[in-house]
Amino acid sequence: MNEAEAVVVGVRVRPFQDREIQNNASLCISMSQKSTSIFDSSGKDTMFTFDESFWSHDGYEEDRTGYLRPKPGSRYADQKYVFDTFGKRVLDNAWGGYHCCLFAYGQTGSGKSYSMVGQGSNKGIVPISCEEIFRRIADDEAASHSYEVMVSAIEIYNEAVQDLLIPVESRPRKGFEIRESKILGVYIDGITKRPVDSYKTIHNTIEEATTHRTVGSTLMNATSSRAHTVLIIEFKTVMAGSTRVSMINLVDLAGSEKVKQTGAEGERMKEGAMINKSLSTLGNVIEKLAEKSTNPKKAVLVPYRESKLTRLLQNALGGSSKTIMICALSPASSNYEETMSTLRYADRAK
Ligand code: ADP
Repeated sequence: MNEAEAVVVGVRVRPFQDREIQNNASLCISMSQKSTSIFDSSGKDTMFTFDESFWSHDGYEEDRTGYLRPKPGSRYADQKYVFDTFGKRVLDNAWGGYHCCLFAYGQTGSGKSYSMVGQGSNKGIVPISCEEIFRRIADDEAASHSYEVMVSAIEIYNEAVQDLLIPVESRPRKGFEIRESKILGVYIDGITKRPVDSYKTIHNTIEEATTHRTVGSTLMNATSSRAHTVLIIEFKTVMAGSTRVSMINLVDLAGSEKVKQTGAEGERMKEGAMINKSLSTLGNVIEKLAEKSTNPKKAVLVPYRESKLTRLLQNALGGSSKTIMICALSPASSNYEETMSTLRYADRAK
């Protein structure tokens, strides 16, 4: 991986789900080192190259119940592998004094939450990073500086910014305002910042935020959130006479699927348009940042202001900040169109 790169992109294909195997789903993705290919129904392939291609299964084998399961093998990108490759960079960036953003993008059911939050003991990037932050703080014996960590959790739903650390009934209907000042840069006016001093307190704060999420059900996945959630970890290093602040933004994006596929109407339809506005603006912003980093002398206009998501992350996108994007893919041919559109989105960031 090129350390100087402003945007780093990885794609991660999840294993088949039991339901897909029962329906004789066929595989349309293959990965080899940095390249990812997708096959259409006639077998024609389109190949992409990313910084990382996370293959989450190494072929299949039958388990005791007769189901096909991913074969454990050397190329199996488990949670630890993904954290070691991408999550560690987030922490290294924070310790180096940079702001950073890590995004999970993909259609509902492709594995965004699995990568970010995880499932049971298979913890994702968010909890592992939080554990690591406090482990590194404890291991850092330099008596010359101390650390302060604060957490905010927000949700962007229908282009309104909400604070997930206050109860739903106390929220302003139109959401919180994003403002800009010379000293603070871009900030969300009045958002909760919770000081945390251990993994346990940060974990409890995240749990609290999770219970406050606005959940909308679509036919595709009844529990999927149609909102973008952002966990903002403000990481302060206090040294003799100076303070350095790094913002770590961990973003679980709303499902990227086209609205018509989910059977959505009315309010849902409006949501779809809003969600896609944030997603398409994010795509444009990242494309421009990638363009800038390969061609630093060129004057490139980055359209941060065109969506709430990019506006509020403006401080942490571009400049010396680092951006990491994990694009989650379904392995099944039945999701070919959406998977292809995710790969194209990921490709624009390169
Ligand atoms: P999304 O957040 O994109 O809607 P989820 O993260 O909920 O999708 O993933 C859908 C299902 O697939 C979940 O049951 C999840 O546990 C499983 N899954 C996703 N990615 C992986 C992976 N890399 N390894 C194992 N299971 C996964």
